Amino acid sequence: MCRLWSVSRGHGSVPSKNSVTCVEKAVDPGKAGPQIGAMDDPHLHPAFQPGPPERPAWPAIRNGLRRRCPNCGTGALFDGYLTLTATCGACGEDLSHARADDGPAYLSILVTAKVMGTAMLLVYETFLPSPWVLATVFSVGVVAMALYLLPRFKGLIVGVQWAKRMHGF
Ligand SMILES: [Zn+2]
Repeated sequence: MCRLWSVSRGHGSVPSKNSVTCVEKAVDPGKAGPQIGAMDDPHLHPAFQPGPPERPAWPAIRNGLRRRCPNCGTGALFDGYLTLTATCGACGEDLSHARADDGPAYLSILVTAKVMGTAMLLVYETFLPSPWVLATVFSVGVVAMALYLLPRFKGLIVGVQWAKRMHGF
C-alpha cells in the first residue's frame, strides 16, 4: 500500500489533468531520522504559480453591453440573437470559454420587474387607465424590455468572465 502520493499538475495556460503517482519508493524505510510525512513532501506543495493578470473590467463590460467582443470592441459577440460566436471575427479572440448560464435571464427579470412594476404603479395612480389598456401596454412593454436586455446582459456577463479570466479565458 502506498503511504506517500505525489501530485503533479499541468503547467501553462492549458489545464491538464493532475497525475497522481506513488512515491513510496523514494522514501528509504531503513533510514534513521524523522519520518517523511505527506505534509512534508515538496511534490504536494508545488510553488505557487500566479496566472496571467486580470484584464480591465469596465471596457470589457461596456463592449459586452454593446454586444461586441470584450477584447477589441469591434467584432460581433453574437451569431444571432443569443448564440455566442466561437471566435471574434475582428481580432480572433477565443470566446468559446463563456459560461453565462442563467445569469442574463436573472438580471433581465430583476431589472425588468423593478422598472416596469414601478412604472405600472405610477401610471395607474396618475392616469387611472382601464384595466385592459394597462394590461396590454405593460404586457407588451415587459416582454419587449426583457428581450432587449437579455443579450446585453449576456454580453455583460461574458465581458466580466473575459476580464477576470474565468473558465479558461
Ligand atoms: Zn475581438
